[in-house]
Amino acid sequence: MTAADAAFSRSLGINPMKYCSRCVVPGMSAVPLTFDDKGVCSGCRVSDTKATIDWDKRGRLLRELVDEYRTSSNYDIVIPVSGGKDSYYQTHVATKELGLKALLVTYHGNNYLPEGEYNLQRMREVFDADHIIVRPSVEALKKMNRLGFRIQGDMNWHAHCGIFSAPIQVALRYKVPLIMWGEHGFLDLGGMYSLNDFVEFTAKHRLEHLLRGYDWYDFTDEGLEKLGRPEAKEGLTAKDLLWAKYPSDEEIDSIGVRGIYLGNFVNWDGNSNAELVAAKYDWKASEVPFERTYRLASNLDDMHENGIHDYLKFVKFGYGRATDHSCKDIRSGRMTRDEGIAMVRKYDHVKPRRDLERWLTYVDMSEEEFDRVCDTFRDPRVWRIEDGYWVKDNVWGEPSQYGKAHVA
Ligand SMILES: [Zn+2]
Repeated sequence: MTAADAAFSRSLGINPMKYCSRCVVPGMSAVPLTFDDKGVCSGCRVSDTKATIDWDKRGRLLRELVDEYRTSSNYDIVIPVSGGKDSYYQTHVATKELGLKALLVTYHGNNYLPEGEYNLQRMREVFDADHIIVRPSVEALKKMNRLGFRIQGDMNWHAHCGIFSAPIQVALRYKVPLIMWGEHGFLDLGGMYSLNDFVEFTAKHRLEHLLRGYDWYDFTDEGLEKLGRPEAKEGLTAKDLLWAKYPSDEEIDSIGVRGIYLGNFVNWDGNSNAELVAAKYDWKASEVPFERTYRLASNLDDMHENGIHDYLKFVKFGYGRATDHSCKDIRSGRMTRDEGIAMVRKYDHVKPRRDLERWLTYVDMSEEEFDRVCDTFRDPRVWRIEDGYWVKDNVWGEPSQYGKAHVA
């Protein structure tokens, strides 16, 4: 790290080499977080408050809230689902516990694992719910994979956009004002909000955090021209990205659409959700271990979420999903910090072979180009080059080398 980079980090209040003293999250995190005077991160502190909340009362608040949206002739609620453990849990609460008529909505990015596809297709059987699955053109998806990677180092940007656009489009089309999301990811991982804020979904959060400031129009030929990246053009027009379009304020206001998070109303725990839905609905975790994390019950809807997408997070920020999963499991008492560090050591740096080969074939790219583009996204506050190799400081207190640098 150069002196200028270090000064820039300090000006933002970030010490990139600092790690939480309770979990394993680094200061240079993909989700905004802060540390208190004990060196404990805001994600851990917000997680602590779960023990002080009257969850029975929260359950009553949720019932009162949804009662206002029950109808005699329409869907009562839209639930965005991937078919994952949390989707099953959300739908279980909505249909079995609250007795709501649910319309399930899925963005399908064409990357499901077989177990994920099995779970997804069974939702309309086990929950007696109607299910709309939005599947964009494969040609458009391949283009969006390449664009996401080259423009912002995230080939799965299309998925974030689809997941946070399709359910709102469907809610408007069917005139269903209430959408129920699962946990608020930034609240849960980084403690961006308190559980007492009862934060709801906003277009601002979608654009600025979930989509990192880009929207669908940035990826058309016209948009890339405006971004100053005409060389990346893929021939996409607005008509190719209709599935990605976020409705206008006027359209949303005309139905009064709002998005609540179930995580504010129940004592949310991903592991407990997985156990409950496996027992009740025969929901299946992955049968094959992932290359980059130890959990088998997460991200079955997209083989690249735990693979290339997550490897790119390591390239940018110096940590990956094994860190995220360890943080969650340390906070919920299922793992010690030392056990978490062992998981980080084992998985965070792994370049996923099976997944990378599939993706390079899918988008017709060479590994040489992949490595070269990756290195343009390395954050200098995390990474330094020593003797031609990338080096960073680790949560276990010493630096390590992580592969050859492909930039000068
Ligand atoms: Zn922490």
